Amino acid sequence: MFLTIQLVKAILASMRLRSAYSLSQVDWIALLAECGASPFVLSFLLDGIYRSEAVLTKHVSPGLMAQLGNLLDFTLPTVTAQQEAPDGTVKFQLRLIDGLEVETVLIPFHKRFTVCLSTQVGCGMNCSFCYTGTQGLKRNLTSGEIVGQYLTAKRWLQARDPRALAPSIVFMGQGEPLHNVAEVEQAIRIFTDPKLVDLGHRQLTLSTVGHLPTLPRLRGFPKVNVALSLHSPFEEERRQLIPVSDRFPLAAVLQELDQLPLLPRQFITYEYLLIRDFNMSLRHVEGLAELLGHRKALVNLIPFNPFPGARWQRPSMDEVDAFRAALVEKKLRVMVRTTKGSEILAACGQLKVNKLAREHATT
Ligand code: SF4
Repeated sequence: MFLTIQLVKAILASMRLRSAYSLSQVDWIALLAECGASPFVLSFLLDGIYRSEAVLTKHVSPGLMAQLGNLLDFTLPTVTAQQEAPDGTVKFQLRLIDGLEVETVLIPFHKRFTVCLSTQVGCGMNCSFCYTGTQGLKRNLTSGEIVGQYLTAKRWLQARDPRALAPSIVFMGQGEPLHNVAEVEQAIRIFTDPKLVDLGHRQLTLSTVGHLPTLPRLRGFPKVNVALSLHSPFEEERRQLIPVSDRFPLAAVLQELDQLPLLPRQFITYEYLLIRDFNMSLRHVEGLAELLGHRKALVNLIPFNPFPGARWQRPSMDEVDAFRAALVEKKLRVMVRTTKGSEILAACGQLKVNKLAREHATT
């Protein structure tokens, strides 16, 4: 009897244990009850998994750990390559359980690092300014794999500097987070649960192209910062950068974002890629002012990061400054994102795991 590759993969997947890092607090409570363990062990167990392994050895019995080991998979993604840029940005190439790889980037930012997490292997959105988009979508990551990326980066950081604060998170790596909405939502619940990863809502930012079918789901998420890839106030130009936006009209996307409850001093971030001779004219300044002037908006200007084969050009810093000043004149809140990690193709839009990227990054 011959088995198809798909069937073999399905059989192997069904044999895999559930990742320990995909469990919510409620799941843990139920599992401990199932194991006949005292509920008092919960805090020690979760502290040991998410903060200090020493707590596990000291306070959780080897018998219970063995029992849990039969029910759950505690392995984290394997680091297969690691590169550090002169500015301190570290890019990890991580191998997942089925051999596919993703990239995770640790970025120094003032006193605290930020981890840029991937949510899919590849991406189906095909944005023309993004290296990942040229790869196509291979599969969604599970919540356990998303949390696993974070723990891998955090443990690496704290092994180097035990006093380092737990890094913040941006969902800006490979993939469109809302195209994998259920797993991303579960990961965010794990990240923000005080008993689990315990990050504050201001420490998480989810960036989307405006994936309209699942955008309303954001209203039911734990509070996080939300960023929209805007890149042009004009639909037709936006389509050249984000081809899928022809199915997600900007007016409908903005209407959805307007309905998100915001905390005081919280804004929706509108990411604006700056591309020379494309979206940096006075017409664009006027268009942005009209679109965002009456909204709780922060415009985040991102000078385009070139990658091999890209058709767009990066503007000079003078051009960036002039565009920024024109927006400020229109009373918009504006910040310019400093490019980090471009030397190792770890900057925004540059992530793609393949041979070409590795060769480029090491030259
Ligand atoms: S920018 Fe984001 S959504 Fe667009 S192709 Fe790249 S990873 Fe996907």
